Formats: sequence, C-alpha cells, structure tokens
Amino acid sequence: MSDCIFCKIAAGEIPSNKLYEDENVVAFHDISPQAPVHFLVIPRAHIPGAAAVTPENSHLVAKCFEVIAMLAERENLAGGFRVITNNGADAGQTVHHLHFHVLAGRKLGEKLLRD
Ligand code: AMP
Ligand code: ZN
Repeated sequence: MSDCIFCKIAAGEIPSNKLYEDENVVAFHDISPQAPVHFLVIPRAHIPGAAAVTPENSHLVAKCFEVIAMLAERENLAGGFRVITNNGADAGQTVHHLHFHVLAGRKLGEKLLRD
C-alpha cells in the first residue's frame, strides 16, 4: 500500500529505530512509547489489521509471534511483557497495517482496560 506508513517503514522509505528485520517481519521502537519498553512487530506484507487475517496470511502472524518470543529473550523481558493489537475505530487503531505492540519494563496494570 503506497500510502501506508508501516509499509514505508518496512521498505526503509521512512526512518525508524529498528530492533530486527527479516524477509517477513520488521520490529521497531514505537515513536510514542507508553512504557519503558514499547516496540511494534509487523508483517512486511500489508494486512490491514486482525480482522483481515485469513488462512492465506496467518502464517505471517505466527512469524510475528516467533519474533516477539525471540526479542523477549534478547531484550531481557523475562520479568514479563504484554502484547496488544488494536483493530478498528472503537479499539483506537490509528495505523491500518497489522501491528503488535510489545510493552514491558515496568509493572503493567493488572486491568486490561482502564475504562
Ligand atoms: P495503534 O493506535 O494501535 O494503531 O498504534 C499505532 C502506533 O504506531 C502508535 O503507538 C504510534 O505511536 C505508532 N507510530 C505511528 N507512527 C510511527 C512511526 N513513524 N514510527 C514508530 N511508531 C509509530
Ligand atoms: Zn501497510
């Protein structure tokens, strides 16, 4: 998708602070961190969000989670971390390219939602 900011990050067309990339997956620091550790893990391919996961592309979701597990080990997140994906307007999705937020580095609230 030519107007998608995460496609541009994956292609290296706009800068990001990357932690990892391979043929299928890119991980980079969130520009507006909500915790001491806050990075995003995305498939290179443009999938609009969780609602657009299909039997044809779901292997890319698995690849994202393999990278999350690898980075959790590499970045010393043994104390715990949270993975979040927002889908659609009510969830506050602002970038319509599937991404998994990985949050860690402090005790995260026990409630999944604040309101
Ligand atoms: P969401 O609200 O779940 O769609 O999350 C989008 C996330 O992308 C937000 O946490 C933003 O801070 C983050 N974000 C937006 N633009 C960039 C960018 N250029 N580099 C890194 N993170 C970004
Ligand atoms: Zn995209």
